[in-house]
Amino acid sequence: MTEHLARPLIQADPEIAKAIYNETARLDNGLEMIASENYVSEAVLEALGSVFTNKYAEGYPGRRYYGGCEYTDVVERLAQSRAKEIFAADHINVQPHSGAQANMSVYMAVLKPGDTILGMNLSHGGHLTHGHQLNFSGKYFNVVAYGVSQETEQIDYDALSQLAHEHKPKMIICGASAYSRIIDFERIGAIARQTEAYVLADIAHIAGLVAVGLHPSPVPHMDFVTTTTHKTLRGPRAGMAMCKEEFAKKLDSAVFPGVQGGPLVHVIAAKAVCFLEALHPSFKDYQTQVVKNAAVLANSLKDLGFRLVSGGTDNHLILVDVFAKGITGKAAEKALELSGITANKNTIPFDKNPPLVASGIRIGTPALTTRGMGEKEMQTIATWIAEVLTDPENSMRLQNIKTEVQKLCKNFPLYTKRLLAYE
Ligand code: PLP
Repeated sequence: MTEHLARPLIQADPEIAKAIYNETARLDNGLEMIASENYVSEAVLEALGSVFTNKYAEGYPGRRYYGGCEYTDVVERLAQSRAKEIFAADHINVQPHSGAQANMSVYMAVLKPGDTILGMNLSHGGHLTHGHQLNFSGKYFNVVAYGVSQETEQIDYDALSQLAHEHKPKMIICGASAYSRIIDFERIGAIARQTEAYVLADIAHIAGLVAVGLHPSPVPHMDFVTTTTHKTLRGPRAGMAMCKEEFAKKLDSAVFPGVQGGPLVHVIAAKAVCFLEALHPSFKDYQTQVVKNAAVLANSLKDLGFRLVSGGTDNHLILVDVFAKGITGKAAEKALELSGITANKNTIPFDKNPPLVASGIRIGTPALTTRGMGEKEMQTIATWIAEVLTDPENSMRLQNIKTEVQKLCKNFPLYTKRLLAYE
């Protein structure tokens, strides 16, 4: 099947075919440690590359503005019912093209421009769409930001509560992009009720953990829950929004026609496949290993003398304060890349460096765990990371580690059949 599909592209557009081949080889030969990335299954890829990319289907199942939607309805209904089974939300909209659009839809459902929102500071681990000044959320709303305590580097719930009582925001937004600890959704839900605010949890990063009960679910405590489907959930690059029944109509019309036009039916088909995979018992084993691997990596790095923001991790990611070792996040990202390890620079709370330099690197285990790597590999990788960051200018050493990385990757093949299909 794969071979059959690869040939038309090589013939029609060799330049793009070559870029896809090179990207596949890059994934196969390197260690992907960006916390927000993962490797989807062949089944998800097949759905993504399906003929549903041809289809216009504005509207919702049974209520479309286009003909020929009978199989599209099958796909969207399956995606909805599987997502409901995973997250136990009253209502699910599977159409958001991305996490940002899922959040925009929620805001559009119940907020007006100029309303006050209370979101987590980006530099403390929040996301751009939670009120950053350069994002639509920061431009259209009056933003008040909460963050972590300087002492514990964990969310300061007392300060959050105080800000909510003082500013009376229309919505409180929780969830994060670079936060390694359990989030107390129940407590934030209670603060929202006390202050009569709507409350949204954005679980883009931890959705896979929530799906199997390894992180407490926000669903019972929130009016809205949004997520991406491509991080720990291991599906296609896309978004999804959930809500209590009373907001269902508002949310649906905010997604379409409010924020988006036609849904990406091929992507919804791939989401449905991802949800089916997430319902399989092996998905819990996978997530359990993701968390175990992150804990081993965290402990190994600590043993090797690194300072971790908040002292450790409860989830799939860690934030390492590399500046405490005298190297910037930017330099660390570059040196790791030259060694075959992909991670990203990240600001740490109360960072002294600007965002494009940053004092931290964010490292995650979802992708490597998908490849089958376990605790032993994490310990080895921690020693490589330590070697790279201790001597980032030593190009010979970086090259030697890259060779070791490639040897390790050969034992955990990924998209080998795809590579062969292009050769
Ligand atoms: N929300 C959170 C917490 C995220 O971490 C991200 C992506 O990193 C998003 C939303 C945005 O998702 P997307 O890139 O699909 O718009």
